[in-house]
Amino acid sequence: MKFTVVSPEIYTYGAMLIGGVLRDEGYNVSLSTKLSVKPKETLMLSLFSTQHLLSDEIKKLVKDHRSKGGKVYVGGPVSAYFEMVLGELEPDCVCVGEGEETVKKLAGDGVSNDFPGLAFYDDGSEIVFTGKAERVDVNKRPLPLIPPDIGSQDIRGASAYIETHRGCTGGCTFCQVPRYFGRDIQSRSVEDILKEVREFKKRGAKRLSVSGGTGSLFQYKNGEINEEKFIELMKGMAEIMGPKNISSPDIRVDCISDNILEAIRNYTIGWIFFGLESGSDRVLKKMGKGATANQAAEAVAACHEHGLKAAGSFIVGYPGETEEDYEMTKDFITMNQLDDVFISIAEPIPKTPLADLVLRTPDEENPVFVPHTDEYKALKITEAEARSFDLMMHADLFRTNMRPVTNDIFDIYLKNVRKDGDDIRRATAVLRKYYGE
Ligand code: SF4
Repeated sequence: MKFTVVSPEIYTYGAMLIGGVLRDEGYNVSLSTKLSVKPKETLMLSLFSTQHLLSDEIKKLVKDHRSKGGKVYVGGPVSAYFEMVLGELEPDCVCVGEGEETVKKLAGDGVSNDFPGLAFYDDGSEIVFTGKAERVDVNKRPLPLIPPDIGSQDIRGASAYIETHRGCTGGCTFCQVPRYFGRDIQSRSVEDILKEVREFKKRGAKRLSVSGGTGSLFQYKNGEINEEKFIELMKGMAEIMGPKNISSPDIRVDCISDNILEAIRNYTIGWIFFGLESGSDRVLKKMGKGATANQAAEAVAACHEHGLKAAGSFIVGYPGETEEDYEMTKDFITMNQLDDVFISIAEPIPKTPLADLVLRTPDEENPVFVPHTDEYKALKITEAEARSFDLMMHADLFRTNMRPVTNDIFDIYLKNVRKDGDDIRRATAVLRKYYGE
């Protein structure tokens, strides 16, 4: 049996990992970022965004392949909301949760209710869910299947984001990580990760990054950050790839220390990316961020004291965010000299607390739907889009490498926020269809 694992646009780590599982089981398997598959092959679709479920191209790929007798199995973070995956894409089944063990059984036995981790339609079009997949021992899983063109991939500067641990101690309401992998941390061994890093280098990867979540939670135990192991990992990765080719970008503001910052300076490209989200403690609390704006400001200052660059991401348009809250976010950016800034509109990923909140919030109280009536009224955008647009331009003026907003940039930002708003409204509509009252 031949498998093609498709992850749209980029080779995700999850897709490479599933490729590695199938390879080690003795199957002929290839990876692709293109939406195509040969008729006799089994298609494993690895999807990480709700937008994938709304994509006409992906729907067509699944439909065409199944109509020719091919099998289509879907996995990845979207599997957490398998009802929506089944309803929107109509694949043969969804591999729910951590997929390594499920995929082995699925490849051998096909769709069956004899093992956990699957969701599919029975003959009467009722959904069968065979139960939660067993948690995977991250030290017993195979090495990923690394595609030969990995060196040409560039995701925020990295050829790939590798997994060092699973889970996050945080409980941010908009984030899927703790719901998907849990809040306890399961870390890989340093040796296993370094073996993988060598393999990536051999296959042509130019720069590697530690995957999302919080890098310094690696080997976290009993409520303690394990500085020693984190430093050992960063040093080991830098020895293989060179320090200019390593990054550990995503870190919570409350998961840093002098030693961690020194290690990041010595063994990586020297950037930290904080999910700051808001300058308002009231909104941070609603988001379950577990950190205050003051802690965020201190973390940014600590990075600068250690000679590091600090980037921050912000979320606007969270239900309940007032004009005053938004002004506090602008003030935070004014006061804290960030080196780069990323802005997004609150997206209700299904089965997160934010999605539940969005379902409970009437449109006339949700900034993603409320028309903007102030400074940008003539642009006919919503309040969330106006805040996102305004904050992008504001951040360009106050980040360390100030960027003047030209007409072109104005147009690009406006186009982007309109698209973000449209995407989120479409995602909200489909959320209501499956999980509304
Ligand atoms: S700290 Fe980051 S990974 Fe953890 S729950 Fe919050 S957003 Fe998600």
